[in-house]
Amino acid sequence: RVRPLNSNEVSRTDNFSLEFPGEGQVTIETNGATRNFQFTGVFEPDATQEELFENCGITRLVDMALNGYACTALAFGQTGSGKTHTMTGPPHQFIDGNLTDQSMIGLIQRSFKYLYQQVKNSPENTVIRASYLEIYNEQVIDLLNPSHKRYLSVRWSKNKGFYVENLFSIECAAMDDLKAVLEEGMRNRTNGSHGLNENSSRSHSMLTVTIDSEAQDQDDENLYITKRGKLTFVDLAGNEKVRDTNSTGGTLSEANCINKSLLILGNCISHLGDSKRRQGHIPYRDSKLTKLLADSLGGNGVTLMIACVTPSSHNAGETLNTLRYASRAKKIKTKPVIKMDPREKLILSLKREVKVLRNENHYLRQQLEFPAKPKGQLQKENDEKFMTFMKEQERKDILYITESGLYEMLQEYMVENEALRTENSDHHSTKDRIRREQQGLYRENEKLMKRVEELERYIQVFFFALFGI
Ligand code: ADP
Ligand code: MG
Repeated sequence: RVRPLNSNEVSRTDNFSLEFPGEGQVTIETNGATRNFQFTGVFEPDATQEELFENCGITRLVDMALNGYACTALAFGQTGSGKTHTMTGPPHQFIDGNLTDQSMIGLIQRSFKYLYQQVKNSPENTVIRASYLEIYNEQVIDLLNPSHKRYLSVRWSKNKGFYVENLFSIECAAMDDLKAVLEEGMRNRTNGSHGLNENSSRSHSMLTVTIDSEAQDQDDENLYITKRGKLTFVDLAGNEKVRDTNSTGGTLSEANCINKSLLILGNCISHLGDSKRRQGHIPYRDSKLTKLLADSLGGNGVTLMIACVTPSSHNAGETLNTLRYASRAKKIKTKPVIKMDPREKLILSLKREVKVLRNENHYLRQQLEFPAKPKGQLQKENDEKFMTFMKEQERKDILYITESGLYEMLQEYMVENEALRTENSDHHSTKDRIRREQQGLYRENEKLMKRVEELERYIQVFFFALFGI
């Protein structure tokens, strides 16, 4: 997304360094060289917040999250390029609480609205929860619980993957609850409980909405399928700091690392975007941010990355950097799968099996011209119709067998079988006899061989005594 030139850039009479040839292309001119990039979509400076929401694909991500997938929307770019504007709209709305121009609200609030609309129109039981955190200088801070002074730990478990321990998470029954989470977190982020002015441009914020839904099986009212989808909105720190770290060749020591997380994120993206290196080790564990984004980036989720840039020639170097980063990220391919815990998975597979068996049962009943069983009901002993039907069938079968001479036919088979069995047993005893005979012959052969060897030795001794050779 390319923001318009700001007043500062205009008064400095900066040139416009970008061109938009169409169909997702962006051309940038830096130091006399022109480079072309291809993206899924490009939002030019005059694109409104509404247009971005409608066309960036976020509604598809919300729908997927409702269906149990882990989806992430991520804003990336240098400080002042429009990440926060894109995600939430003007920050002052969260401080003074008034936003006169409602058309300025960002992707997050619009997604919330869409999410609750979809929930309202869906027959499923849905429980929405939210958490909001910030990663500053490799420390995780709970934005919903700022009075809690301790930094939170990132842990790993087999079922959950990476997660933040003791992170506050709140149930949001209505859209206003979710908006309150965003507002509270944004206020705490801007105020910065640790009192650092530059905090927001140097920190990453991550708002996670988990969506648990329980759906009734279409064919069976007694069957329920539960899924846990996730929708995460990430406003990343300004990436110009990363290049600063690189250019000074600084090591990644905690002291001089401006933003370790972002640097590692770049490494992970490079690995994941490279078809050869993708199979190898991806350094997710090297930073808190990449641990928490592991699933979004290379795992089972779907991620929308919005690269924010200024068109100003003054920042063309940074813009080129961002575009390169984004085009590398575009090469990443994930395999989205619905998230369920292993127990859930087993239950679901059993439910599917039951469904298949029910279909089979239904088919067989049709074949027998027996009335269909009501949906979701098990066969009961007191199903009178069924029992009389079975008795009737049994009687019919006996009649049928005797009437049609099947009984005689069966007897013939039995006699034939018996004959075959006797023949087989004869064969077996013949085989045994032959084997015994064979073994006798072997033994006799061995004896003869020994006799031959003995004779040879006698002849040798005889010749030696006679001729001395
Ligand atoms: P970042 O979060 O990337 O540091 P911001 O979102 O805070 O950047 O944007 C910096 C300034 O530019 C803000 O004053 C913001 O209102 C303005 N701005 C950013 N993008 C746009 C846009 N698309 N249209 C109008 N103003 C924008
Ligand atoms: Mg910002």
